[in-house]
Amino acid sequence: MAFDECPPHPATRKYMQDSVDRTTRWLERCKREMKRLNGREDAINPKQMLFGINQGGTFEDIRIEHAKRIREMDLDGYALGGLAVGESHEEMYRIIEETVPYLPEDKPTYLMGVGTPMNILEAVERGVDFFDCVYPARNGRHGHAYTNHGKMNLQNARYELDDRPLDETCDCPVCRHYSRAYIRHLLKAREMLGLRLMVTHNLYFYNTMMEEIRDAIEKGCFQEYKKKKAEQLEEDHK
Ligand SMILES: [Zn+2]
Repeated sequence: MAFDECPPHPATRKYMQDSVDRTTRWLERCKREMKRLNGREDAINPKQMLFGINQGGTFEDIRIEHAKRIREMDLDGYALGGLAVGESHEEMYRIIEETVPYLPEDKPTYLMGVGTPMNILEAVERGVDFFDCVYPARNGRHGHAYTNHGKMNLQNARYELDDRPLDETCDCPVCRHYSRAYIRHLLKAREMLGLRLMVTHNLYFYNTMMEEIRDAIEKGCFQEYKKKKAEQLEEDHK
């Protein structure tokens, strides 16, 4: 990823324009420097890719102009940065929808720092290919498990004697070997294994969802998949 500025939200139009111009100048320098280094005989990783990061906050015209500028630089991939920084989900979806069409379709598009499973489904629908986010790990450490029947809070007393796995439809190593009651006990006892089990299950959940998304896109049934998954995610966990 080229170095960029992730401007605060909200920011004034003037601040945003200056910031985006600076981000573009940094990207140009970055591309030049990478080319120079890769031309050396002792280049450490000459095949390393370079992604540019689109910025512009919630000013769609600045976003679009910036997307056009970095697109001309013919980079390996493009990221949308500066989202999920305090704006509403609806605003974020609007910006993705308006910006992605100005990025090349044959290069990967990466939405930085997003998000919930629902955020991911909405962004994929708008043309995003990949993501990174702390949620599965951070929420897991706080006792929140993502399941195919809604999100569950393992701190809740009702799981104290619950012998079932976190998610009965999950075949991750955690769900095959440990019960809700046991993991809850580990969390309560502040035993590190509890955190590891929660994070393992949540990452498995996210990875599985991404596999399902790719599969649904290939089969041409992403819309049906998204609808079904959204219903599952919104269930009240029992
Ligand atoms: Zn699991």
